Amino acid sequence: MQSRYVESDAGAAIERYARVGVGRDLALRVYTTRLLGQDPRLVLHGGGNTSVKTTVPDLLGQGTAVLCVKGTGWDMGAMEPPGMPAVRMEPLLKLRGREAVNDEEMVRFQRASLIDPMAPNPSVETLLHAFVPHKFVDHTHATAILSLSDQPDGEAICADVFDGRMGIVPYIMPGFALAKKSAEVFEANPKAEGLILHKHGIFTFGASARDAYERMIEMVSRAEARLAQNRKSVFVTAQLPQQCAALAVAAPIVRGACSLEETTDGAWRRLILEFRGGDAVRTFVDGAEVARYSQAGVVTPDHTIRTKNWPLVLPAPADGKAEEFKRAAAAAVAVFIERYKAYFARNNARVGGTKKMLDPLPRVALVPGLGLFGLGRSKKDAKVAADLAEAAIESITDAEAIGRFESISEADMFDVEYWSLEQAKLGSAKELPLAGQVAVVTGAGGAIGAATARAFAAAGGEVALLDVNEEAARAAAKAIGGAALAVRCDVTDASSVHDAFDQVAAHFGGVDIVVSNAGAAWQGRIGEVDEAILRQSFELNFYGHQRVAQNAVRIMLAQGTGGCLLFNVSKQAINPGPNFGPYGLPKAATLFLVRQYALDYGADGIRANAVNADRIRSGILTDAMIAQRSLARGLSEKEYMSGNLLGREVTAQDVAQAFLAQALALKTTADVTTVDGGNIAAALR
Ligand SMILES: [Zn+2]
Repeated sequence: MQSRYVESDAGAAIERYARVGVGRDLALRVYTTRLLGQDPRLVLHGGGNTSVKTTVPDLLGQGTAVLCVKGTGWDMGAMEPPGMPAVRMEPLLKLRGREAVNDEEMVRFQRASLIDPMAPNPSVETLLHAFVPHKFVDHTHATAILSLSDQPDGEAICADVFDGRMGIVPYIMPGFALAKKSAEVFEANPKAEGLILHKHGIFTFGASARDAYERMIEMVSRAEARLAQNRKSVFVTAQLPQQCAALAVAAPIVRGACSLEETTDGAWRRLILEFRGGDAVRTFVDGAEVARYSQAGVVTPDHTIRTKNWPLVLPAPADGKAEEFKRAAAAAVAVFIERYKAYFARNNARVGGTKKMLDPLPRVALVPGLGLFGLGRSKKDAKVAADLAEAAIESITDAEAIGRFESISEADMFDVEYWSLEQAKLGSAKELPLAGQVAVVTGAGGAIGAATARAFAAAGGEVALLDVNEEAARAAAKAIGGAALAVRCDVTDASSVHDAFDQVAAHFGGVDIVVSNAGAAWQGRIGEVDEAILRQSFELNFYGHQRVAQNAVRIMLAQGTGGCLLFNVSKQAINPGPNFGPYGLPKAATLFLVRQYALDYGADGIRANAVNADRIRSGILTDAMIAQRSLARGLSEKEYMSGNLLGREVTAQDVAQAFLAQALALKTTADVTTVDGGNIAAALR
């Protein structure tokens, strides 16, 4: 591992931050914090923190000795000065005289010692930073250090590798007790350049930002060098099926198995998937002994809130044997949940029965022959779980290559998983109604499709935007941001629709809601219109919906958690317009299609509903057409667009809200919702 410290970059940081009134110490602290945070072998998703002891003016302008320490919720790789709140040193040091300080008291005390009362919460490891005397203190959960330490004789291995240069602290959960013990270990060996926190991570110290940072690099490099020596070969591959199922086939089955029925009839608690199938992952999950080394526990305690203490291990999915894999996956998840409940009950009893059980679903699933899935309530959370699982695989692989991987005890894992300060990292924001659900929208590059995708994303869903115009789909997905996925899809081409749904299943793990919206209008007086035009319109305005619905059902049945099909039908299906037969006829057939799906798949929990919209500014009714038609009728554009019973223009957003309402109405199927401002001739009976 090489130092990435560049003197001129450090100088530039000092200058840049000086312009906004930030001093040299904090500027350098931010600079090296970013260097650490940008290397996933050192820091991943909040797994680390840094500090500097300096002087800053308090709110009255009085110079005050403080510890600027990483604030909870800040990403080290993107650190800025406001992410390093200043805490008064004097009260922090006084706390050391106490015998014990409980966590809530510690957090309150730290907040009360902030210079800026609006600053984020100082790290849960703040006291450890305060209790060692060095100006700069760096802490990471480097994968190489964990490989050495996560061993039955990890302390002895570290003592040998670091040869007295690092103090070795036995495992204690983060908080006051760990801070106090670490300070004692340091004071017993005041020449120590840092500390190894057994089965947790590493601290390095320095008089300058560069010293502390480069000491981290040096110590991690020493660990890497040790891991490169006397390696034994690990993970003999298990017997696997000749051909394994494709990712797009296996993912919805895994996702369905990792779902729970909610108390509301028809509601499911679902998770989003993130797949990883690189060489290191495959070697690990394909190993004959995966059931042993994967179940030993976390590599560092703070992974537990994101990955749970152990992953779900599934059997390899043989190609062409989807039903068999589905049964085996359901059985494996049932065992996982039982084990989790028993673990919770056992440990909750130990701590006095005060804890409330989190959902018992796995957050990492290993699939021999395929790879691993991270699971989360959002794509973002699924990615975090997958990143941590990959880092854990790296640590465990190296640990096994030089010895045997060993984690902290079950009780210690429980104490961290159910520690209020760890749970606080996840935030307590109320979940949105579509959290954990995947919605696919066709024709998503157009006005109604884009508005619908936006509305579903705003309601907490993950969205896939399909359009024959890939650029338009991309632009609409980009406008939504987050994890929105753009996929090219021509609904008049069966293989294009199949591929697009497979891409969505591989990316998010499955599909829960489909808004079949792609369409276009053809005109012609029905007695004279060319049959080719009629067929063209049927291809898009009827068969397009059928292909989309068929593929959605294929994935929904594999998941086995119901689903929702929504169709953009248009008022033409009920109330034909003159010369609009080529458009209205397939739309009328599509209205029937909605009812057929509702009938045939109701027992599978799949709902089918439609929206009848009229006169929406979109690709079907363009600005030019609006100008021309209003002129022909002697109306202003506004009068033309609001020519309905309510006298209100209907927008793409109104249609999007109707689709969203249907997606959320768990007891409604075979419904048609009219969104047209009122048109008696198009009203349903
Ligand atoms: Zn830590």
